[in-house]
Amino acid sequence: MQSSSGPAPTRIVCLGGDYVALFLCRALRGAIRRGLVDVTVISRDNFHTYHGFVAEMLVGRIQPGQIMSPARRIFAPAHFHNAEIERVDTGAKTVTTSRILDGREQVLPYDHLVLGLGSTDDLARYPGLAEHAHRLRSYWDAFRVRNDIISMLEMAEIETDPAERRRLLTFVIAGGNYGGVEVASELSEYFDLLVRKEYPRLEREEFRIVLVHSGDRILPELGQHHPKLADYGQRITERSGIEVRLRTKLVAATPEEAVTSAGERIPTRTIISCTGTAMSPLLDQLRGAERERPGGGRVCTDACGRVAGAPEVWAGGDCAATPHPKGGSYPPLAIYAMAAGWRIGRNVLRVARGEAPKPARFAGLGDAVSLGRRRAVAHLKGIPFYGLPGWILWRIFLLGFVPTWDRRVRLVVDWVLTPLFGRDVVNMRLQQPVGLGREMYEAGQEVVRQGDIGRRLYLIWKGEVEVVRQEPNGVEQLLAVLGPGQHFGETAVFSNVRRTATVRARSRVELVSLGRSEAVALSESSQQFAAAVRRLPGTGAEQAPVAH
Ligand SMILES: Cc1cc2nc3c(=O)[nH]c(=O)nc-3n(C[C@H](O)[C@H](O)[C@H](O)COP(=O)(O)OP(=O)(O)OC[C@H]3O[C@@H](n4cnc5c(N)ncnc54)[C@H](O)[C@@H]3O)c2cc1C
Repeated sequence: MQSSSGPAPTRIVCLGGDYVALFLCRALRGAIRRGLVDVTVISRDNFHTYHGFVAEMLVGRIQPGQIMSPARRIFAPAHFHNAEIERVDTGAKTVTTSRILDGREQVLPYDHLVLGLGSTDDLARYPGLAEHAHRLRSYWDAFRVRNDIISMLEMAEIETDPAERRRLLTFVIAGGNYGGVEVASELSEYFDLLVRKEYPRLEREEFRIVLVHSGDRILPELGQHHPKLADYGQRITERSGIEVRLRTKLVAATPEEAVTSAGERIPTRTIISCTGTAMSPLLDQLRGAERERPGGGRVCTDACGRVAGAPEVWAGGDCAATPHPKGGSYPPLAIYAMAAGWRIGRNVLRVARGEAPKPARFAGLGDAVSLGRRRAVAHLKGIPFYGLPGWILWRIFLLGFVPTWDRRVRLVVDWVLTPLFGRDVVNMRLQQPVGLGREMYEAGQEVVRQGDIGRRLYLIWKGEVEVVRQEPNGVEQLLAVLGPGQHFGETAVFSNVRRTATVRARSRVELVSLGRSEAVALSESSQQFAAAVRRLPGTGAEQAPVAH
């Protein structure tokens, strides 16, 4: 909407399409219409994810789509550019994106760049977490967890081995922050309901929810300024039957257990991580930008939202360390990301008009966290609310920040209908677990079991495994010891027979696994691959029918 006679509009490019972008566009809506600025929001998803109701979505209280708002509606009249952001060149003032189909690149010039890239999960710090813990960061993470929970219940219902049944019904959540506490509390209520109706053959006592938290008490976001609210939250959480492990971290994970820093090994098939954040690698490309700590952390901004050391670059939300008017920096919460988007929008306009930007005065509005069963703790400008009043406030508070009216109405409809019809326990899993995966096992754990159907081929990356066969007389015979670079699982995958041996980790072992259809396709298209995987590891001989 550029005016034909006036100066060219100031070009503003926003990286990331969530809370920062949402309020940036709201602040600039009038200026876009008047042709003063030209705003483009770039994001890999063409929707905004509303994290506040992720826990309700996981437990089928609301339909999955209710937490997504269409980018083209909420950012209008700004342009929306749906692609992966690849590079930022603050010297040339360009952003390079690649399209999802084939990686073809496009270059977008800007006058002002706004960073709303959020954060990512850092699960690489402990072995096995990246491979076996779920994240809740993106919509797709949450959608996968929702369906996996239902899968666990379905498998447990028909499981005859009591130990495996209990493992399927144990849910370990890492992080006693808002996200972790809400997920644990919602799961507790969900399981109460499901054993009464949909899963009568499961006993409520068979379920375990373990919340692992590194601090002295859960809800650290509240604990600092509102210790009474945090204490109440902890009491309710423990009374809900959730096992809270304080001053404890998850230090390793395998497909069948979670290992804590206290040395506890918790048999489980589901680990949900709500902790451990890392910054987008795109921040490393900002020339001269100051970071929270040398070489990493959030980008530092002044109180106006401008990135220190990088002219015409602004940042807000989870990727920015912006000074809080009361000291410290803004915490990584949605309300501060929204305030940052708004403030940056107004300030870019001021700068474009040749005026000085204004520093942030926003010092927070309130906090609220749901504890399940219509209870919450909340405060509004420091006034505390507990239990049902807190929960009503929490719902109103969060509903008010849902970006579109259409999603607000749909949420309310779900809230009214769910108590009448029950939770949605449809497993919407899109496909079988195929493809390339990474797995980690601790010494003594079985990777494949003799007699099972073989669905995956394994390549050893680190560690050692032993291949053993159980003879009819019950004696176990050691067939081979395999190490890095060797493989197993090919007999069952290629010959379509059951596993002919058990493969057990001798040490901590890290594996790359390949789904059957991919392994077959690779061996049909590459003779070298076919020859290599059919050869008995370490001998060069054609694979004998020893394994697995
Ligand atoms: C499970 C969960 C529950 C939460 N609950 C609450 C709560 O109850 N209350 C609260 O205040 N806060 C809550 N939060 C925190 C809140 O969601 C964050 O503070 C907020 O999302 C930060 O907003 P943002 O705009 O900075 O970044 P984000 O919301 O993280 O958005 C980042 C955007 O950047 C895009 N992006 C990143 N890299 C690229 C790339 N290379 N190419 C293209 N696009 C890219 C992403 O797609 C996304 O659109 C919760 C968070 C989680 C994960």
